[in-house]
Amino acid sequence: MIISGKTRLLGVIGNPIGHSLSPVMHNAALEEMDSDFVYVAFPIEESVLSTAVAGFGAIGVQGFSVTIPHKQAIMAELVHISELATAVGAVNTVWKTAQGWYGTNTDVEGFVSPLREMNRDWSEENAIVLGNGGAARAVVVGCAELGFKNIQVIGRDSNKLQDFLVSFNSFESVASRLMVNTWDTLDNTLANADLIVNSTPIGMAPNVDASPLTIMQAKKIKAGTIAYDLIYTPNPTEFLNQAQVQGATAIDGLEMLVQQGAAALKIWTGKSEVPVTTMRLALQKHLGLV
Ligand code: NAP
Repeated sequence: MIISGKTRLLGVIGNPIGHSLSPVMHNAALEEMDSDFVYVAFPIEESVLSTAVAGFGAIGVQGFSVTIPHKQAIMAELVHISELATAVGAVNTVWKTAQGWYGTNTDVEGFVSPLREMNRDWSEENAIVLGNGGAARAVVVGCAELGFKNIQVIGRDSNKLQDFLVSFNSFESVASRLMVNTWDTLDNTLANADLIVNSTPIGMAPNVDASPLTIMQAKKIKAGTIAYDLIYTPNPTEFLNQAQVQGATAIDGLEMLVQQGAAALKIWTGKSEVPVTTMRLALQKHLGLV
């Protein structure tokens, strides 16, 4: 990659941001695309978010990814927020327009991408989503977009679960299929699940032996179920190992990461195709998976 006087800036804002995998993935793609952009990680404190975004406008930053803790606060800095991001309640991708900064959420597209590839009719199928945090919101919107019949979200705090449910009240396509339940109900519903998504951090390195499901619960997973873990290290997780023993199809979190990045890169560069294989390989190499 040659950085010249014309090279334009893309990046990611967060705090902390040193662990971000996005620069590895995006710079590998930009190099292959022969695109005159460079993608940089910006550690931005919450108290200076507004100043930083104004500064980005002043120095010609073309677009940026947004991660914790700015995914909600960034909304106040934007002139337009997509309906999808409004439903999720978080923005992870921002780009410059003549009117000002626009924002959307590509986590939904990242999540649904490997499921869409399966070319299935989901309209009679049941999804169980473990966890009711930020990622679960993108998962729920994604499942509604795919047309799942029922989406059951499992959480450990009844108040948070109620808030989660109510927050989708004005999004009919989600609200009409969404249920929330506590973990003790899982024993009765796991056997009917066609898709089980782990959107908790349980099983993430270094706690690689942990799983959101007990051994007895995992045995209830039926063959043919899709087990989807948003975690990408380790790869596979204990949850995916348990599910595969039952004959389930496993999807790991790396693909979601790659595909949400690919969707963002398409927006920033205006290209309809970006080198997804290169992005995936760059991450796999970086994580020591290949
Ligand atoms: P988050 O907002 O903190 O939500 C985590 C959820 O997990 C919360 O509902 C939390 O419950 C629940 N939880 C945490 N520990 C638990 C435990 N021991 N038992 C039961 N429930 C527990 O985090 P997030 O942003 O949604 O991220 C969740 C996971 O998805 C992380 O592993 C993250 O790395 C991964 N992720 C992956 C991608 C990707 O591209 N692959 C994208 C986003 C996130 P409470 O609300 O009750 O605390």
